[in-house]
Amino acid sequence: MENMSEQKTEDSVVKAAAGGNASVVAGQNGSADLTAENAAGEPRHAESGLDGLVSDVDVPQGTVVLAATPIGNTADASARLIALMEGADIVAAEDTRRLYALANRLGIHVSGKVVAYHDHNERDKADGLLDQVEQGATVLVVSDAGMPTINDPGLAIVRRAIDRGLPVTCAPGPSAVLDALCLSGLPTDRFCYEGFLPRKHSERVQHLRALKSERRTIVFYETLHRIDDSMADLLDVFGPNRRMALCRELTKDYEQIRRGTIVEIRQSVIDEPPRGEMVLVIAGASEEEADAAAPTTLSIEDLAVLSIDRAQEDNLRIKDAIAQVIAEHPLADGSLANRKQVYNAVLKLRG
Ligand code: SAM
Repeated sequence: MENMSEQKTEDSVVKAAAGGNASVVAGQNGSADLTAENAAGEPRHAESGLDGLVSDVDVPQGTVVLAATPIGNTADASARLIALMEGADIVAAEDTRRLYALANRLGIHVSGKVVAYHDHNERDKADGLLDQVEQGATVLVVSDAGMPTINDPGLAIVRRAIDRGLPVTCAPGPSAVLDALCLSGLPTDRFCYEGFLPRKHSERVQHLRALKSERRTIVFYETLHRIDDSMADLLDVFGPNRRMALCRELTKDYEQIRRGTIVEIRQSVIDEPPRGEMVLVIAGASEEEADAAAPTTLSIEDLAVLSIDRAQEDNLRIKDAIAQVIAEHPLADGSLANRKQVYNAVLKLRG
């Protein structure tokens, strides 16, 4: 494997101080000193000037604001996020306990009304929240980690705000997609984000087949439970030699980037199962790979002719030749032609 980097970053250390004050001491990755009000009563963030930054932030009235929260390192919280958490009239949070836990780590107080806003209720809640925006309220939307709407709630309120002509803006920040892409070492000029792969093996394979001729770098989110199966399917569909990176525990103490070919990363997953959160970044297809894997426009008869040729050339049983030819020519949606139809066409051609 070309490159495997693991770094202990002396990540954010969070210490609850006496009297409810808290401090966030960032290590080498985050030099901000977010020290909460100290015993002498000096202001929070005094040494870094963060208090000044936070108080300078304009918290826009009558607006929906989507804000990114840290994906691991608390010191990645921006001055805008802090100001919004302190000053928004309403905070719509994917998990309210996580919101308070973050506020606690940052040593700040959420003064607005906090409401649960998650995948299961976001459509129902969006209009009620926007009624408040219409009355002049600032509604802050945060997810558990990273950017709302990126495999997280938030899109429903954005769409409804657009429909209703209400202002919506972003306080951008951490998101695992970009972090992983940048660290992968793969081309960043053109990429596509594919979210999580389907859970079911057959759907996952079909989805991957449809991506086989994709020229852009491809980013997937993955979980601990499915990484083994997904790596096996990636190897099966993309072959052993595509370059990729498995990026885990980004911004955290044990951030690790495994870089190599698919077969190498697959082996590393077997030898040392990765723990924690992870993102997979796969190189796009080369021109030759893209040509070879381009979705087929071949008819059933064309596939039958190819199968007959393959059987003769490689001395294969016709059924095996059909299976090979069909697998090599997926349809545009990644599904495969019907074997029985191709077999019947072969019988017809052979007379
Ligand atoms: N909204 C988030 C964002 O902007 O990145 C993504 C939320 S999605 C529900 C959670 C997935 O993001 C995880 O399963 C993992 O694939 C990825 N992820 C989040 N934090 C990560 C981290 N610190 N390191 C690696 N992957 C992470």
